[in-house]
Amino acid sequence: MRVECQNCFVDVIPMENSCCPACGVSLISQQAGLRTKITFSQGERKGSHCMRCGNPTRSTAKIFKKSRNHNYQPNPGGHDIQAHPLALLLNFVAGKYRHSVEVNIPLCERCRKEDEPEPKYIDFEKRTMTFIGHCALRDEMRTPARSSTLV
Ligand SMILES: [Zn+2]
Ligand SMILES: [Zn+2]
Repeated sequence: MRVECQNCFVDVIPMENSCCPACGVSLISQQAGLRTKITFSQGERKGSHCMRCGNPTRSTAKIFKKSRNHNYQPNPGGHDIQAHPLALLLNFVAGKYRHSVEVNIPLCERCRKEDEPEPKYIDFEKRTMTFIGHCALRDEMRTPARSSTLV
């Protein structure tokens, strides 16, 4: 069964020694996740819990990112096929680099005063950003889908 590592937030199958195969940290000592990956799509408004602290909120924050670098990598050191020179050239020809993504994420007044949340992944093609956020928000976003399948 796959679990989400609370250290690197990759969905992994634990190794025999119950460590995360991606980052090597023990999965046993980890608390049942309070934080989890949450993906937001451009033009979508969802959730009424603060992504950072999980408190109910109606305020949102707008996060805008554009691919100003040829190989924008929010996760430096990560191996990305897109960073290959040939892939860069092909992407350039395809006009990918004019892409930008803007998403609205629920963020309460208090958390808005802190730093702007940095996405862990950005998908300029799908226009999505993935953040590490509070599971209260993820649970809320999951609920409608689950109930609709029951009907
Ligand atoms: Zn890990
Ligand atoms: Zn908050």
